[in-house]
Amino acid sequence: MRLQRTIKREVTFSGIGLHTGRYASVRLKPAARDTGIVFYRVDKGALIRATVASVIDTAFATTIGFDNMKVRTIEHLMSALAGIGIDNILIEIDGPEVPILDGSATELVGIILEAGIAKQAKNKTFIQILKPVIYEDAHSRVVALPYEGRKISYHISFNHTYLKHQDLTIDIDETAFARDIAPARTFGFLNDVEALKANGLAKGGSLDNAVIVGEDGVLNKSGLRFHDEFVRHKILDSIGDLSLIGHPIQGHLILEKSGHTANVRFLKKLLSSPDAYRLVSDPVSYPYSNQPAFA
Ligand SMILES: [Zn+2]
Repeated sequence: MRLQRTIKREVTFSGIGLHTGRYASVRLKPAARDTGIVFYRVDKGALIRATVASVIDTAFATTIGFDNMKVRTIEHLMSALAGIGIDNILIEIDGPEVPILDGSATELVGIILEAGIAKQAKNKTFIQILKPVIYEDAHSRVVALPYEGRKISYHISFNHTYLKHQDLTIDIDETAFARDIAPARTFGFLNDVEALKANGLAKGGSLDNAVIVGEDGVLNKSGLRFHDEFVRHKILDSIGDLSLIGHPIQGHLILEKSGHTANVRFLKKLLSSPDAYRLVSDPVSYPYSNQPAFA
């Protein structure tokens, strides 16, 4: 069993959004048990729950909202919260997009740890996978298998001279997330950057917040943080997207060339397969200790 968690005190950060190029300030606030992750657009007076049902766009980033009320590019913040095990939090933001910071989740993890982790007087429930669930489309495949723990396998494949295939399988707990996944940065191909900008996207993108892949290697002078930083970042994104289901998934997730769209469609398939999972508060051999790794 593990108790639900929130943060101990408010913390703030700010920066430019990757796609809109707009600055936003974010204030993270403690929230009561069973609140979940909730965004509040302070400039619009709108609450948006970070759930599968709130997703309105998955092109190049995960966007939640309704009507004209949106928060874009939530996946890295969602990943940091899920990776460190924060269940309940209010995220006030005064603009349309979560700041990209350095393109990874390392700063976000630091901000959350600076806020401190507070245990709450109610058990956290987990989704335990009981039988295989498979989502497949023309480009991607996402599979969940029963597994006593939380394992992610990811395969990326690009038709590119420098970046072709990368694979990584990792057992995820808080320490592994902070060390092996959080530092991996957003990446893009040089060829795509101009097209994205022409379509009004990646306006805030630069070598300070993304790894840019050219014909023969990366353009960033500092190089890569891991030789397989690309697949690690895809795992980072998937942890954020999959956390929109509201409960950590106990199982082995296998993602092949997936992205925000397939991740969210997989969650909808899982939710519509009630015999494939159950909600449990005491998963057998669960690797999540009640003691936060970073407390
Ligand atoms: Zn990302």
